[in-house]
Amino acid sequence: MSRTILILPGDGIGPEIIAEAEKVLNTLAKEHGLDIVMEHGLIGGAAIDARGTPMPEVTLHKAKASDAVLLGAVGGPKWESVERSLRPERGLLAIRSGLNLYANLRPAILYGELADASTLKADVISGLNIMIVRELTGDIYFGEPRGIRTAGDGLREGFNTMIYHESEIERITHMAFIVARKRNGRVCSVDKANVLESNELWREVVTRVAGEYPDVTLRHMYVDNAAMQLVRDPRQFDVIVTTNMFGDILSDLAAMLTGSIGMLPSASLNKNGKGIYEPIHGSAPDIAGQDKANPLATILSVAMMMRYSLNEPGLADRIECAVKHVLAEGFRTTDIYTKGMRKVGTREMGDAVVKALGK
Ligand code: NAD
Repeated sequence: MSRTILILPGDGIGPEIIAEAEKVLNTLAKEHGLDIVMEHGLIGGAAIDARGTPMPEVTLHKAKASDAVLLGAVGGPKWESVERSLRPERGLLAIRSGLNLYANLRPAILYGELADASTLKADVISGLNIMIVRELTGDIYFGEPRGIRTAGDGLREGFNTMIYHESEIERITHMAFIVARKRNGRVCSVDKANVLESNELWREVVTRVAGEYPDVTLRHMYVDNAAMQLVRDPRQFDVIVTTNMFGDILSDLAAMLTGSIGMLPSASLNKNGKGIYEPIHGSAPDIAGQDKANPLATILSVAMMMRYSLNEPGLADRIECAVKHVLAEGFRTTDIYTKGMRKVGTREMGDAVVKALGK
């Protein structure tokens, strides 16, 4: 049965990088048996211009009806003076909450050919392949009460509530263990259970759920140590599962171990395995429309979609191998260019990946 993919190019370099990802999808459909229907929609600044809102109802409706969503990026200087509640980025928040996406998966993979792009020594990071599973809808970012009030001494105090319901911890733990089964079978749960009660519960629930996955090993680590270990010896990790706030910080840290923002995909999933797949970078208005953007993060987001929403691990492997192949052949967009390599634009990089899909 055909699966429906909703494509939301967004703003800035969004349409350019999405066009290359679509070439990959079309090739998989034509030559490798992928049975899909592609729909298109508006989000972000493009939707503000056309419909007066960053998240038109029709887009949300289509997203709910599709099996997966592929998103470029949103935002740009043109919409910076728009009222806050109508900014392009609100479109992202609206689609994430509209689809109830509670799990954010962010791999940090270092391609051998790009080892020079990292600030860490090659012998520390070569072969790096970590998956961070971050809880996305709970914790101190959403906990109530929150605010700024006047304290007893007449001065102001700001406050937030760090809170986790058992069911929120259970579902993200299941997600991490399911992901680990598709990888190397090791989960590290990161918390601050020695200081925070919400994290004490986190640790207890993670440990209980782990009992349902005897084939996956679990260890626990405090977040301060995890930050240190990620820089000292990042290859010790396979899957890291952690809370919303710690995941926010650690996933950026882990991503930058690889040194190249144009290479990193992400997935945000709900309990039915439906997800939004998007590069971690933004709309890069400084290079938009110049055929300079690296499309590989978006193409690798398609690989994640194959693995996590469409259950096509063979096609995910095929895309990832094609990306490795073009890097090995020396193709480089400006952001990952080093001397002696072959500098190419967005379209030529996309074409090279499409060609490599058949290898
Ligand atoms: P950015 O990620 O867009 O760009 C940061 C730097 O990285 C820029 O120099 C840019 O040219 C470069 N870069 C980014 N992606 C690249 C790619 N694929 N190839 C080559 N170079 C690339 O971050 P920013 O400049 O802080 O934000 C620009 C706009 O994007 C803002 O409006 C911001 O709100 C928005 N944004 C959107 C998302 C999203 O849609 N998920 C995420 C972050 C930022």
